[in-house]
Amino acid sequence: GSTPVTVIGLGAMGQALAEAFLNAGHPTTVWNRTAARAEPLVAKGAVRAETVAEAVTAAPLIVVCVLDYAAVHGLLDPVADELSGRALVNLTNGTAQEARTTAEWAAELGAEYVDGGIMAIPPTIGTPASAILYSGSQQAFDTHSTVLDLLGTSKFLGTDAGLAALHDLALLGAMYGMFAGAFTAMAMVGTEKVAAADFTDELLVPWLNSMVAVLPLLAAEADSGEEVSEERKLVERVALTNIIDTAKAQGVAANLVNPIQAIKDNT
Ligand code: NDP
Repeated sequence: GSTPVTVIGLGAMGQALAEAFLNAGHPTTVWNRTAARAEPLVAKGAVRAETVAEAVTAAPLIVVCVLDYAAVHGLLDPVADELSGRALVNLTNGTAQEARTTAEWAAELGAEYVDGGIMAIPPTIGTPASAILYSGSQQAFDTHSTVLDLLGTSKFLGTDAGLAALHDLALLGAMYGMFAGAFTAMAMVGTEKVAAADFTDELLVPWLNSMVAVLPLLAAEADSGEEVSEERKLVERVALTNIIDTAKAQGVAANLVNPIQAIKDNT
């Protein structure tokens, strides 16, 4: 039969994870601090555990997805003795250091720890648009990869438990950087009463898409370790200065673009 799975944490994401396991026919036990959030899943066949201890002992594979690591430890420290011999897959967003510390904690308890970073939103869990990054116990990942593949495309990055968080946060940083630039752009044209939606559809999205296509070239340059030419540095400096000056003159705070200049000056 299929592996029993436990899901601890039934926020927007935890519910989507549990649903993917249920849809594939896995016996699924769920627990959430606010018990009522388990109800839609129970209606779909999940078993609601009364306690965290009951949830942990219900399956060899435990998936945790709560707000932060403080919440993870608040829930699991009291039931640490029950974790021995189980695979703990923590999909809670945290720092690489938190992941490494939690991996050490789990190892001392005799648990197999896998840390994960979800590169998806709840509605895309279980679809090709979902990718999940993993690192930590290779053994646990290999044992449970078929189950984990139900959530999205699984990518195992290595046995250093911090690698998934490192990659996840790097990707999130890139996303926020793009959003920061986009919001600045909308605000700039907005000063001349250009609707953000029109600007975004007609110009911003096509422009950013074409620029995304340049990234592999820039990455190859970064890998080569070759210095960017002085000419190009100068051209970029002029452009960045013009962006900042024009934004300021239009009454828009350009502090979202300023750091790019600082990063470029440092590299
Ligand atoms: P929600 O706010 O929807 O849910 C938070 C969950 O954490 C709830 O189950 C909540 O329980 C629980 N929780 C919070 N604090 C505690 C605590 N002290 N003790 C026990 N349980 C606690 O968040 P999401 O489900 O969206 O996010 C969960 C994780 O998934 C986060 O780390 C997030 O970064 C990550 N993630 C989310 C994505 C998304 O698009 N939503 C995308 C990628 C990653 P209760 O119901 O009782 O409040």
